[in-house]
Amino acid sequence: MATENTGNVLVLIETTGGGSPKSTAAGLLGAAAGIGIPVAVAVTAPGGGAELAARLGDLGAAHVYLAESETAATELGSAAVGALADAVQAYSASVVLLPATNDSKAVAGRLAIAAGGSVAADVVGIRYDEEGQEVIASHAVFGGDFSTESTVEGGLMIVTVRPGSVEARAGAVSNPEVRTAAVAATAAPGARIVEASESVAVTDRPALRGARTVVSGGRGVGSKEAFSLVEDLADVLGAAVGASRAAVDAGYIPQSYQVGQTGVTVTPELYVALGISGAIQHRAGMQTSKTIVAINKDGDAPIFEVADFGVVGDVFSVVPQLITEINNRRN
Ligand code: FAD
Repeated sequence: MATENTGNVLVLIETTGGGSPKSTAAGLLGAAAGIGIPVAVAVTAPGGGAELAARLGDLGAAHVYLAESETAATELGSAAVGALADAVQAYSASVVLLPATNDSKAVAGRLAIAAGGSVAADVVGIRYDEEGQEVIASHAVFGGDFSTESTVEGGLMIVTVRPGSVEARAGAVSNPEVRTAAVAATAAPGARIVEASESVAVTDRPALRGARTVVSGGRGVGSKEAFSLVEDLADVLGAAVGASRAAVDAGYIPQSYQVGQTGVTVTPELYVALGISGAIQHRAGMQTSKTIVAINKDGDAPIFEVADFGVVGDVFSVVPQLITEINNRRN
């Protein structure tokens, strides 16, 4: 069995349509380097992985396993499950890290069945125990109000890591060892993509998932028109825009911007909540943000229980002053 820093730790790399690693890769490889030797596993089209391998070395992968698949583009997750199952054998790995995204969460569950493992879900930190024998996963539960830990005794430990939750980064590896293999065809039934259409984002702002700064607005913003206040602050901070469910339900902004239990989970460096009361379902999606700033006219609003900095005041009075001040300090 692998002990601290000696074992290979597999990391599933999600890639963009252009074949580059997605932003989740750096944190996952950093987490892997903290407990062992990071092995990046990526599904690629045949012959298309050389640049990707070099990039993964930059992000700290000591080994890169390129699983070439003809069907990856048309089968949801099947190639990734097959690639990881093969790599577990090839690298004698006992821990696999995946991003806690919708696609990779499905891969994690299927891998647990295919390779006989157990899943530790939505993990925010990972380490070895004091004896250096067991891998311990940390979870932020009940909206981040409590921390809990889990491990897998015997068998493969499959860990989905909350994007943005791991700050550690692995040192660059100039010449990672690269293995290329065809993904074995799986007989297991998998969902097939029969049609896809690209939705083009019509914004220059960063995507909510993985953004370093998020400015969110709630029902307190009052109307769809007034929501431009949230966008204005986001723009001066170079931030993504988010919202509470009440703001979404009121039609101020589409559902894809919702932060919380039934929306997107974010862990930015800075989260600014404007006119948001801080219900537990909202906090579930933002409470692990590094610094939280809340502006609310009700000094008893629960958002202040989790805020690092709070302003009791009217967003329509405070936010324009804030924007002016930020601009003044820049000029
Ligand atoms: P409110 O609770 O109405 O709060 C508005 C706040 O704005 C108040 O605190 C008020 O003091 C303040 N305010 C008003 N005017 C001003 C002003 N001019 N200046 C400053 N402050 C002002 N919610 C989510 O956000 N995300 C989820 O994913 C989510 N999932 C849910 C899942 C379930 C199963 C359930 C039951 C609920 C879920 N909710 C979710 C809803 C959640 O319980 C709350 O209802 C919601 O978060 C409230 O949104 P809000 O804070 O914008 O509105």
